[in-house]
Amino acid sequence: MDYLNFFSQDAGDRHHTKEIVAVKIMEQLWIEGIRRKLRIEKDSRVSTDIKIVCGEKKTEFMVNYIEELQKKTKTFFLAAKQSSKNYYFHACESGNKPTGKSMGKACETRANSCEAYVSFKFIEETGFTAVVVRQQLTHTGHDLSNPEERKKNAINPELLGFVEIWLTQGLSISQIVIKSCDWACSRGYTDKHERRFFLTPEDVRLVKRHLRIFTLPDINDAVSVKKLVTGELKENICFFQPLTKDQPLVIVVQTPQQKALLQENPHPMFFMDASYKGLTSYGYALYDLVLVNQTGRGVPFAYLIMSQESSAIVALCLNMLCSRNPKFYPRSVMIDRDLKELNAIREVFPKTKVLLCWFHVLQAVHRWVTSRDGGNLSPDQRHVVIHAMTLMKACITEEDFVTVSTSVCNDLGSNRVTTYLKVLWLPLASRTMGQFWTTI
Ligand SMILES: [Zn+2]
Repeated sequence: MDYLNFFSQDAGDRHHTKEIVAVKIMEQLWIEGIRRKLRIEKDSRVSTDIKIVCGEKKTEFMVNYIEELQKKTKTFFLAAKQSSKNYYFHACESGNKPTGKSMGKACETRANSCEAYVSFKFIEETGFTAVVVRQQLTHTGHDLSNPEERKKNAINPELLGFVEIWLTQGLSISQIVIKSCDWACSRGYTDKHERRFFLTPEDVRLVKRHLRIFTLPDINDAVSVKKLVTGELKENICFFQPLTKDQPLVIVVQTPQQKALLQENPHPMFFMDASYKGLTSYGYALYDLVLVNQTGRGVPFAYLIMSQESSAIVALCLNMLCSRNPKFYPRSVMIDRDLKELNAIREVFPKTKVLLCWFHVLQAVHRWVTSRDGGNLSPDQRHVVIHAMTLMKACITEEDFVTVSTSVCNDLGSNRVTTYLKVLWLPLASRTMGQFWTTI
């Protein structure tokens, strides 16, 4: 700002001009103050700028800034991550860390750990708002000039919106490819390698798949589920009990491929374990039933979903599974120490051997010895207990087991720990540690 211009202005209200100048000087002083307090930037690629935000809202300022920058540099930035109230960080769209097999190769993934970013830190003081804009615009991990890498670009959001509309209108994949090409050309884009604007049939198919996930047939989820399992997904459903006031939701899922798999292995050893929150949005139980196939791989052959868990419901599911797979009778089943599962299996498959998963046993014991309400043991004591469990597991005969477990209990000394082991685990020995002396 050239202040001399203000003073030399001969505009009518000199008094008013003076006021503006005073404000400008105050702002300038304030900015200088902020600048002095800034941390010293070690990364020489980073440039820092302080601007006064006036008239605009914070988000408006950022949106305009990013848009301008994207246009100018022909790069794209991810949506802001906000780590504190006034701090917003936009990483380069290739800034995510790679997770899969691609190892971050820019021709295979957009997660290239690129270090470029723009960040905004807003500072508000007595009516002024300033923003510290930091930017590091040297892109790493990907090469902006390589046309091969542009195949990995995300679809332009505006075009994506159109593709979704065209899909819901029932246009075919190839029609949509042509339409999107017209759309891109009409907006002046010419680089056919640029996946952001020029889509392949596979891109459109991917959008279609996502769209199907998010468009449910009814606003009420229970109704949606009923429509889906009795309609579109019918061939994958072995049993369905709709959710009502009087009964829980129960779904037994088995795809035709899974049914064939079970037909090939009608007397498998199988594993059963449930997951809850984090996997199903309602926190309902989802049971995974996995068998060991002829090549020794664990493969899921059915899933049970239930809104309420009890032995009776698990047994109902297993019975339904049996009625749809008449030859199915497992040799043995491995579970964690869950009584609901144990009782259900005993009821449906009385001749099946039930084994407790050694991993779950150790996990449960470990949780107990470390928890404050449980063993609350020191690391050394914990080690002794886990070592004792391993000794017991290694027993080959029942006789051995009795000898070892007795001496282990004597050695442990602590009443609390030995009581816990005696009550909860030792009676189950023939199912767990005993799996070595009972033939499966
Ligand atoms: Zn980048």
